[in-house]
Order: sequence, then C-alpha cells, then structure tokens
Amino acid sequence: MVDCPNCGTKVATAVKCWTVTPVKPSVRGNIPEFKVGIFECPKCKSKFRSKVGATAKPVETNVNDFVVKIKEIREGLTQTLRTLREKIKTLETERAGLMVEIENLKKVVESRANALETEVNQLREELQSLRELLGAGEEID
Ligand SMILES: [Zn+2]
Repeated sequence: MVDCPNCGTKVATAVKCWTVTPVKPSVRGNIPEFKVGIFECPKCKSKFRSKVGATAKPVETNVNDFVVKIKEIREGLTQTLRTLREKIKTLETERAGLMVEIENLKKVVESRANALETEVNQLREELQSLRELLGAGEEID
C-alpha cells in the first residue's frame, strides 16, 4: 500500500513490479533487497514509481562460499600434510639406507686398516729376520 504523491490516495497494487538488489552487501552481512513498482493512481490517474517493501535476506550464499573456502583450505592443508609426511618417510628411508652404507664403508675401511696393519707387521718381522741374517753373516765373516 503506497500513497499517491499527487493526491495522497492509497494505491494497493502496482502496475509493474521488480526486485532491486544493491551490488554492495550491507555491513550487517545482509543484502537489502527491495521491490520497486510502477503505480497508477485510480483517482488522478498519475503514474509514479515507489518502493514496495524492503526485505533483508541473510547472505546464505556468501556463508556457503565461506564454508566451501574453509573446506578447500582444510583439504589443501591435509594434502600438504600428506605430502610432507610422505617426504619425511622417504627421507627417513633414505637416511636409514645411507647409515647402512656408511656402516658398511666403515667396516671396509676398518678391515683394510687391519689388513695393512698385518702387512706392516709382517714386513717388520721380515726386516727383523733379514737384519738377523745380516748380523749372523757378519758374525760368520
Ligand atoms: Zn492520485
């Protein structure tokens, strides 16, 4: 029910009616949607435009978008965590493999050192026996 701006007669129904939605949502998070209609006064026959009624709809779509975004972020984080966990697993396996390799190399180096020590000892003994032989020869001469 609107008043005719010309004569003040109450006009009940609009000739034409449409919904107007502002581009920017209000601060409260609602989209203030309102209807605008073209009215024709039955008394003075003047046509005028007037706001029919304001309805504030809660921004369900925006909330849903937000929920979807949170879900996406959470999925992204889960994916990142999964990737990191797999990376850590791979690195741990690699580290274990490297430790085994280092351990094996240590053993190889140790056995080589032992072999060299034995060889050096044998050479010392040989040298000693050669000196003894020479000494004995000198004594004989
Ligand atoms: Zn009128």
